[in-house]
Amino acid sequence: MRLKGLGVSPGIGIGRALVLKRSTRELRFRVPSALVPRELERLEQARSRSREQVEKIKGRMTDSVGADHAYLFDAQLLMLDDPMLIERAARIIRAERLNAESALQRSLQQISAFFDRAEDPYLRERKGDVADVVGRLCMNLRATGDPSDWFKGLEGPMVLVADEITPSVIAQLDWSVLAALVTDAGSWTYHTAILARSLRIPAVAGLHNASSVIPPGANMAVDGSTGEVITDPDQPALHQIAARRRRREAYEQSLDEFRPLPAVTIDGVVIRLEANIETPDDASRAEQRGAEGIGLFRSEFLLAGGGQSALAEEAQFTAYRRLLEGADGRRVTVRTFDVSEPQLPIEHAGVEGTRTPLGLRGIRLSLALDEIFQAQLRALLRAAAHGPLRIMFPFVSGVEELRAARAAVARAADTLRSRGLPAPAVPIGVMIEVPSAALTADLLAPEADFFSLGTNDLIQYCLAVDRTDDRVSRLYEPLHPAILRTIRLVVRAARRHRIPVAVCGEMAADPALLTLLIGLGLTEFSMAPASIGVAKQVLRGVSAAEARRMAGRALLGRTSAEVERTLTEFLAPAAGDEVHRTTPHTANETRRL
Ligand code: PEP
Ligand code: MG
Repeated sequence: MRLKGLGVSPGIGIGRALVLKRSTRELRFRVPSALVPRELERLEQARSRSREQVEKIKGRMTDSVGADHAYLFDAQLLMLDDPMLIERAARIIRAERLNAESALQRSLQQISAFFDRAEDPYLRERKGDVADVVGRLCMNLRATGDPSDWFKGLEGPMVLVADEITPSVIAQLDWSVLAALVTDAGSWTYHTAILARSLRIPAVAGLHNASSVIPPGANMAVDGSTGEVITDPDQPALHQIAARRRRREAYEQSLDEFRPLPAVTIDGVVIRLEANIETPDDASRAEQRGAEGIGLFRSEFLLAGGGQSALAEEAQFTAYRRLLEGADGRRVTVRTFDVSEPQLPIEHAGVEGTRTPLGLRGIRLSLALDEIFQAQLRALLRAAAHGPLRIMFPFVSGVEELRAARAAVARAADTLRSRGLPAPAVPIGVMIEVPSAALTADLLAPEADFFSLGTNDLIQYCLAVDRTDDRVSRLYEPLHPAILRTIRLVVRAARRHRIPVAVCGEMAADPALLTLLIGLGLTEFSMAPASIGVAKQVLRGVSAAEARRMAGRALLGRTSAEVERTLTEFLAPAAGDEVHRTTPHTANETRRL
């Protein structure tokens, strides 16, 4: 079977499928023979737990609406004892070495097919009851527990196939066995895709139904550049994949020579290239890959799998100090937690009300949860004694939030001083990623020390296109005239108020778009460490003056297509070499690799 999605993290991974259905909390995989008894035991335990629960439900129904209505649950109890379901699943575990959840699902499919063929409408309706019982059994198996245990005892490199998956889950996995990642949802700026690129795990997103059609345990080859996913590849396909992998590795190596070179355009404009990283240990690796500093440390990744203790001032201080030490005197920009309340590792943070994606997130959440915010700010200010640190706030929508956040920094500094500790002054910056912040950049600039354009969210909110929804990913258009104008507005405001402005969104990592951004007057960029080599290679061949003239023409474009044409014409002389363009919008060259 061949599937085609969006290649969101380059490289080729080969391994066996482990299927995660987050929507139903199911994990499906093939186990080594030694683990077959464990799966049979889990199945049996789930059966007895389900039995107890259904008995209780039946009793409750009998008490409240009478025994007449409780008969439905008698049927479910019978199903739990019926060899047709559990015994069938046990046979599948023994014969196919599937884990208990997969075996139950297979069993359900077979029984459903049987019911579908039945003439009797009563029997056909029983299909729903069996599905209900299987759902309960799977719930009681609770296989999706701790992601760090998922690959335990399993053989060989694994390809994780998920309907959707959060970065915190990826952060907890054993990466040494994770050969590749494929997801039904997602796009280039999906956080999980960003993390996969950082970890250099090949990934394909936007496959729509991979988690339904790829069987657990299938052999898989995943090409994170082209977006191709092949299950059970034959010999010729494997040869082709191996050749592609060799070409890709040779290309990666060819970039190494650019990493130590200065980032200067051919007409002498000095560009600053920094790295976006997610763990403190990435800092030294980023430097090896040619980064001049850390332009974005996504601090919320410290919370992945760490439980409530990850929020403690001391734990954070240790992490930030390690980060600064790893950066070895280079500038480090830490973004305060960019999470929404359910992502915090605490039962209930104490903020009442319904949860929505555009609700309490980023700086809004930090301002609502003062204790947590203060602990983070104190940890950061203490760490600032160990290197050149900058603090940046995510999801700021206007001047009031920036003032409130700055006041919080001042209070954290006062607390430290009252403890007799130093609290050095650190530059305070704003991520420009909410359209209202971009539109009021001239008001924010006098009160901020720097800006960083978060184009991932800026594009999503300017164009009203969910960056994680594969069905609208073609509308996620960095070359939309609205985006060019917004960026120009922010650059002008920053220039007028003499504060630096960088781009830390994924736009900067696309060499073609990088050229356009240089043309729009930007000279500071932050990107995944793996992208720095290509970025240097490209910008060292660009004239900033010519790029400015091209950007002037691009700004006259009325549609994304017109803007793209201007950019393509400008890049045309270089189109023969295989370097340019890595995002789905302009990925043709990379696809040839
Ligand atoms: C952005 O929005 O562009 C950004 C860099 O932040 P994140 O991708 O973490 O939302
Ligand atoms: Mg963002």
